[in-house]
Amino acid sequence: MAELQLKSVEKTYGGGFKAVHGIDLTVAEGEFMVLVGPSGCAKSTTLRMIAGLETITGGEIRIGDRLVNDVVPGKRGIAMVFQNYALYPHMKVRSNLSFGLRLKRRPKQEIAGATGDVSRVLEIEELLERLPKQLSGGQAQRVAVGRALIKQPEVFLFDEPLSNLDAKLRASMRVRITDLHKRLRAEGRPATVVYVTHDQVEAMTMGDRICVMREGHIMQVADPTTLYQRPANAFVAGFIGMPEMNLVDAVLTTQDVPHLTVGDQTISIETGLADRLSLTEGPVKLGIRPQHLQLLTPGSDNALQGEVTAVEFLGHEINVHLRAADADFVAVVPSDHLDAMPRRGDRVAVKPTGAKVHLFDRYSEENISLG
Ligand code: ADP
Ligand code: MG
Repeated sequence: MAELQLKSVEKTYGGGFKAVHGIDLTVAEGEFMVLVGPSGCAKSTTLRMIAGLETITGGEIRIGDRLVNDVVPGKRGIAMVFQNYALYPHMKVRSNLSFGLRLKRRPKQEIAGATGDVSRVLEIEELLERLPKQLSGGQAQRVAVGRALIKQPEVFLFDEPLSNLDAKLRASMRVRITDLHKRLRAEGRPATVVYVTHDQVEAMTMGDRICVMREGHIMQVADPTTLYQRPANAFVAGFIGMPEMNLVDAVLTTQDVPHLTVGDQTISIETGLADRLSLTEGPVKLGIRPQHLQLLTPGSDNALQGEVTAVEFLGHEINVHLRAADADFVAVVPSDHLDAMPRRGDRVAVKPTGAKVHLFDRYSEENISLG
């Protein structure tokens, strides 16, 4: 296993479209790195450049200490698992697994040993004599992972490998893949992984670190806790977390009593937050996670006054949509915290819990409240 390094990597496609704008990323040996971002942000392009399936038009890619810019895919020491895992339909699972090694004319004994080892690790031993059409989606996906694992690559690349599975299976495959990664680490053969997904739950639960991308740029690289608690910009703040963080235009003033003006209303901000600010006044985006927005009785002091526009009952919690100070908000309220269910049209007041608020420069969208 090896470290993977991208330095100022660029991709301009044939038609002149620039898909990747000089990205820098280092994935440590044995690290599970997730690339996440909306559809079209160049996750697959980046992965395919690492694999050598796509040329790079600028920068450098290194696997271990080798510069691989001009190395063909087969010689890069990578193995890739795609969304459409396409097993060879006429071959039994055993032959699907060993195909790569047979192609390389490895000795029979080695092939048998590696097939046994990989099927044990992936718990697919009982499937070895089956054909792909006799497998469930999850089983087929495990065979596809096995086919990559058996190559003992320097770096594993996954491109949305779970997208074709239903929600329940996806959840169990998530655990299996991270489990496998931990097990390989414990056995002293850590796997360097780059895992592409557009699903923030996969990103947050699987990644040692997560690289958030937008339109061919890297917006932040950090561990899941840091991404959630200290988003570097409004994009990451909005992308990570469910429901999405409320992001509304406001004007910050820190003279005398620090406060925010939202629409035609004002709320003071806690000194704890005011002390963290790297900007003292001006147009900002106010970011409040729905879980950090308190519902209060109308007229409450130092809160935004508004009206409930919709209520979604989810069982253990309720999403309350509301309009206040010319902006839309969502508040998530644990259902056992409420005496009565809020209803559309109810007058309410809302206020962020404590200092759990983020402020972003309105124009650069950088977080100015990280301290
Ligand atoms: P993602 O995997 O994040 O959804 P892609 O890497 O597939 O994004 O695509 C990134 C951008 O590059 C998109 O705007 C897409 O339309 C464009 N793109 C992808 N492949 C090609 C290609 N072969 N030629 C031109 N543009 C492409
Ligand atoms: Mg893609």
